[in-house]
Amino acid sequence: MNINKSVALFSRAQQSIPGGVNSPVRAFKSVGGTPLFMQKAKGAYLYDADGNQYIDYIASWGPMILGHAHDEVIKAIQQQTFHSTSYGAPTELEIEMAELIISMCPNVDLIRMVSSGTEACMSALRVARGYTGKNKFIKFEGCYHGHADAFLVKAGSGLATFNIQTVPGVTAGVANDTLTCAYNDLEAVKKLIADNKNEIAAIILEPVAGNMGCILPKEGFVEGLRTICDEENIVLIFDEVMTGFRLSVGGAQQTLNVDADLVTYGKVIGGGLPVGAFGGKRKIMECVAPLGNVYQAGTLSGNPIAMIAGYTTLNILKNNPNIYQELADKTTYLKDGLHKVLSEVGVDYVINQFGSMISIHFSKQPVTDFATAAAANNQLFNKYFHAMLQRGIYLPPSAFESWFLNNALTKEDLDKTINATKESLEEVL
Ligand SMILES: *Cc1c(COP(=O)(O)O)cnc(C)c1O
Repeated sequence: MNINKSVALFSRAQQSIPGGVNSPVRAFKSVGGTPLFMQKAKGAYLYDADGNQYIDYIASWGPMILGHAHDEVIKAIQQQTFHSTSYGAPTELEIEMAELIISMCPNVDLIRMVSSGTEACMSALRVARGYTGKNKFIKFEGCYHGHADAFLVKAGSGLATFNIQTVPGVTAGVANDTLTCAYNDLEAVKKLIADNKNEIAAIILEPVAGNMGCILPKEGFVEGLRTICDEENIVLIFDEVMTGFRLSVGGAQQTLNVDADLVTYGKVIGGGLPVGAFGGKRKIMECVAPLGNVYQAGTLSGNPIAMIAGYTTLNILKNNPNIYQELADKTTYLKDGLHKVLSEVGVDYVINQFGSMISIHFSKQPVTDFATAAAANNQLFNKYFHAMLQRGIYLPPSAFESWFLNNALTKEDLDKTINATKESLEEVL
């Protein structure tokens, strides 16, 4: 495979951009090698600067659930651009977006648009603190909630990939209010709460985790958190930046049938443009300015181009809920095929899957939290990643990331991926 242009672009990028990338995991640092510079994408396929084609299992880390350059989405964006790209004043389109989301998602009475998942989580935490008058909060090891200071403690994703334990620039004062414990460990949550009686404003979690590979909530875990939050006057925040509009029309709240108090969205909600949102129960969201005193704002929040891309994507999902069944069927087909070849090859492995999220950990023991994900043979994953890339399959460049299926993937693409997995592992083992 010729990647000369990517090699040259990466070298040039490093002269003007830290590490040559605008988000760390893109740099391939943990898997090694040169990151591929993309030129275009259509449906399920990425094309790099040298013209190589790849089957895409990242979907821009989730947003491209319908596949790349979806005709309806592209057309809507193009039409909107003629009316100007931003006003800094309210538009009817923002109401339509809010109404659409409220019609899709349980427990969302009021919703505020922002421009990223980071902003959404940061703002939801502020609202939970403002509402309860308490400062501390609980997050789970390996869950990623964006890069706001308070969340950069045992944060999974790129921090796990680069083995960053403490982040310079995050003050101890901030980090001390962030309490962490293992995902799926309800007893540890109870102990943290007992040790910090009446001090905890919120519990935030990925209801299905995707930033330490794909990790499923154990039976009763999320339900248990709901009960604890009710008993202790704690705001339960579902970070649905990954799961929202991906697991189902109503996200993890609907799929797991557990109510959150506040929910954050990102990724799919913008259809590939920068959009995030936080919303939830009326009495809590009424704290947000200008209704209440919890200040939160954004020059480009509700931007019309971003709104039309998100609105068009969500509208397609709402009107074609069969897409979720198709995606789940494709992912199950992939999982079954991977099980078959991985057992033939004879390697220790675990496949975790939920809806259209899936990942492989080369592990003998079940992977249920960050510690078990980190204990897997992630060196082998890195070799597997490169062998797959050579065969035209673009997986996330880290074992600490979920794969995201898009609905443009065909059975042939999945078969190719399954066969490439067999060949790749035979090559690298
Ligand atoms: C990606 C992600 C975020 C951060 O969103 P950005 O748009 O990258 O700021 C937050 N939470 C979860 C669960 C995510 O996967």
